[in-house]
Amino acid sequence: MDFSEELKRLEQQGLYRSRRVIEETQFPKIVVDGRKVINFCSNDYLGLSQHPSVKQAFIEGVERYGAGSGSAHLICGHSQAHHALEEELADFTGRDRALLFSTGFMANIGTLSALLKPADRVLEDRLNHASLLDGGLLSRAKFRRYQHNDMSDLKNKLSLKEQENTLIVSDGVFSMDGDLAPLPDMVRLARQYKATLMVDDAHGFGVLGGTGAGVLEHYGLKQQDVPILMGTLGKAVGTFGAFVAGSEQLIEILIQKARSYIYTTAMPAALAEATRVSLRLVQTETWRREQLMHNIQSFRFKAEQRGLPVMASGTAIQPLLIGSAEQAMTVSQKLMEKGFWVSAIRPPTVPKGQARLRVTLSAVHQPEQIDGLLDALEKSIND
Ligand SMILES: *Cc1c(COP(=O)(O)O)cnc(C)c1O
Repeated sequence: MDFSEELKRLEQQGLYRSRRVIEETQFPKIVVDGRKVINFCSNDYLGLSQHPSVKQAFIEGVERYGAGSGSAHLICGHSQAHHALEEELADFTGRDRALLFSTGFMANIGTLSALLKPADRVLEDRLNHASLLDGGLLSRAKFRRYQHNDMSDLKNKLSLKEQENTLIVSDGVFSMDGDLAPLPDMVRLARQYKATLMVDDAHGFGVLGGTGAGVLEHYGLKQQDVPILMGTLGKAVGTFGAFVAGSEQLIEILIQKARSYIYTTAMPAALAEATRVSLRLVQTETWRREQLMHNIQSFRFKAEQRGLPVMASGTAIQPLLIGSAEQAMTVSQKLMEKGFWVSAIRPPTVPKGQARLRVTLSAVHQPEQIDGLLDALEKSIND
């Protein structure tokens, strides 16, 4: 096989992807490719990845369990730490039970392929995360996408009764746009057409709602409204991994059938211990969520004053629409030279002509760091 043509084409189109190498992190300060910069592209919304108590719990977990779990959950890798974390996640989300997965990507493909049969149908928002789209395709159910957050398109698709069972699947907070799904309307439509609703709350869990339990708490929705909730632990919670939460029956069928649960090594138990502490901090150190909200409002207000192309988002994900992939790359490079790391998001992650800079804010960004970013953005975009 020869990939040289394809690689050359990606490079010519400004779509070539490469990694930057991090040497050290004291988030939001970071040393990358030999340069000290402020990180504005991490999903560590509350700064918990650096919390001394989380790190300490990780270290103690390693002392007790070792570095790796040694096996899948169903063979001999399921520890007290994992079990306790599942119970605490169920409690926090107000659900009967929760099941840990090693990553969010695996949680989504495992859940969708376990629950759906070829005789079923899955309706997905066009802008859903890649793992939800892949999971829907992998399930071999009839796969339909509706226009982003477009309830009349969703209703039209629901009213065509094509298959026996329908599952509606959506991001809670859209990962490249930062906007929320209109979940109360979706709950109503799901009831009306006897469909089931699944929400991926990767970017809402830990951040949204009165106690940080996520987008469902924000809207006041319960397990009977949204029976399948997926959340991740590598973003606001600051560690790694993911979970699905819902009824006893949902969790039991996933344990029996989700292949990305059954045939993979359990996350290290030490990581589960660190996550337990982080989950408690999400609930007790409420100043972190308040500070994040303050940073979001301040960034938006000042960006609008300066005429920067911010998109309509009220969350920590604050994209600035640039347009061409090349231009987005150029601006991102200029920002790096000025000491700010903001990633450029290009097709196919976003639609063609909608390349953007994706600023992500955190509770631990200082006001002068945000002001510095705004100055650098203004100069880099207008030059
Ligand atoms: C990050 C993300 C995932 C994947 O989670 P990982 O734990 O990083 O694999 C799934 N869905 C959405 C919406 C995400 O943003």
